[in-house]
Order: sequence, then C-alpha cells, then structure tokens
Amino acid sequence: MTLRIGIDYGGTKIEAAALSPEGSVLYRRRTATPDSYDLVLTTLRDLVADVEREIGADASVGIGTPGSMEPASGMIRNANAACLNGRPFKRDLETVLAREVRLANDANCFALSEAIDGAGAGRASVFGLIIGTGCGAGYVLDGKLVGGAHALAGEVGHMPLPDPQPDELPAPLCWCGLKGCLESWVSGTGFQRAFHSATGRDLDSKTIVAAAQGGEPEAVEALHRYRDRLARGLSVVANLIDPDVIVLGGGMSNVEPIYEGLAEAIRLRTFSGIWKGDVVQARWGDSSGVRGAALLWGLEETLARA
Ligand SMILES: [Zn+2]
Repeated sequence: MTLRIGIDYGGTKIEAAALSPEGSVLYRRRTATPDSYDLVLTTLRDLVADVEREIGADASVGIGTPGSMEPASGMIRNANAACLNGRPFKRDLETVLAREVRLANDANCFALSEAIDGAGAGRASVFGLIIGTGCGAGYVLDGKLVGGAHALAGEVGHMPLPDPQPDELPAPLCWCGLKGCLESWVSGTGFQRAFHSATGRDLDSKTIVAAAQGGEPEAVEALHRYRDRLARGLSVVANLIDPDVIVLGGGMSNVEPIYEGLAEAIRLRTFSGIWKGDVVQARWGDSSGVRGAALLWGLEETLARA
C-alpha cells in the first residue's frame, strides 16, 4: 500500500491532500501561499510533515504548479506565482523533503485526474481544458500525460482564436505578448472582456450568465458567441489529436448552456466533419488539482478497477 500526497500550488492558497490507494481523499489541509521563495519551501516542508503525521505514514509527493518546468534547465517559467519563476523548484523541494518529487503544470494535473478516474475514465485519449481565470489544458493518452519536448503540449490557451470575425479584430493583446490568444476569449475574464467590448457594459461573468438565463438578449448573444469561440478553438484540438473526450473544468465549465450543441459545433469544423467525441464537465471540480498531483505517482489500483 502506497499513500500519495498531492499538492495544488495556487496563487493565493496551497492545498495538500493524501489519497488512499483507491483514490479517496484521506486528509486535506490548506494554507496561504507565501510570497517569498524560501518561505514557500519551508511551508511545503511543514505541510507535508503535517499530512504525514495525520495519516501516520510516509507518502509520495506530487505537486501541480502554475507555469511549467523547462525540461532542460529544471527552472519554472510563466508562473503567475512570480517567486517560482527562474527557480529550480523541483530540485529545491526534493532537498527540503528529502525525497524525489514529481511536478507538473496544474492543468496537466487536472487532465490526469479526470482521465484516470474522472469524467474521462475508460477513454484512451482525454483532453482536459480549464476555463477559469485563465485557460490551460493538458493531454492524457493511454493514462499518461503528454508533456511535449518543451513542456508545451496542450497550451491551446495561447494559440490564436481560429477564423476571427470582423468584430473580433484587431486581435486583443494577451498578457503573454501574443495577439488574439484563445484565453482572451474563453477564460472567465475573457468572457467578461468580450461582453464589455460588444455592449459597453461592465458585468462579471456570473451576472452575464444569470442575465442570459433570464432571456436578456445581449447576454444570450454573448453566451452564444462564447460557445462558438470555444468550438472554434476546440476544433483545432480535435483535428490535431482527435480525443475521445474533452473534459472542461474551471468556473466557466459550470455554465450548463455552453454544452448545448458544443460537440456538434466542434465536429462541423473538423476535417470532413468526422470527429464524434464528447465534451463533458469535470467530475472532480476543485479537487482535481490535488488529486492529479498525487496521481503523478500513478494509481495502479484505481486503473485496474476502472
Ligand atoms: Zn497569450
């Protein structure tokens, strides 16, 4: 029996959870994310010690972080938790925890959790897309994460929105320096931005969705356009890797109307219209981060049962 600890490293909080061999959460603990790198390391050391004390056993440790680790140098880059950038975080964490640690981008952890025993369980090719504050994604093939040569695989959030319409040009500048990034359209903040640019009204995404459900024409139209943009982006994914299933997570994935006709809209934009995969909501919600991080060390028992 091996116990696994998963750590979800967020911009404001760090959550750690211990998983049983069957994949259920035995214990979880949250703490505020420190803003200095040295404090991050000692906080994680204490957090792991606390969880191991609670479960009464040593455990493997996997961690999901924002940004990604550059494979050649081992340095973190593009993390919105800025103190990690340019640091050999995995190596330093292994030193303070005195064990090997597995580390992946948080969207990759999400995809892994949903592929192994979430909404994509039993499917060979699973693409997980987080549409929350930002837009990140991960790809799992036959139970294994596909990271890519530069840890870039699945970064659809920063490819341009395909087939831009006249009112979508000039393409908005993304924080990453590129123009017209999908994230600028399909993240929750992108949805708000697009609504503001189309109507001049400054509403948060929840208010827009509620207005759409109440039948307000501008909000209904905004949600319709949102689904169309999401379909355009995901049609590229379908053409490129042809997943069995696309699992959506993050705040916008809870908006039920976006699923209406979404898979069909994607199919119509694939070559010869032959993609027949599903688009479904995540099973594990906010727990996907810690679960996927723990599952970086595998979960043979769960796989065998699935
Ligand atoms: Zn971008």
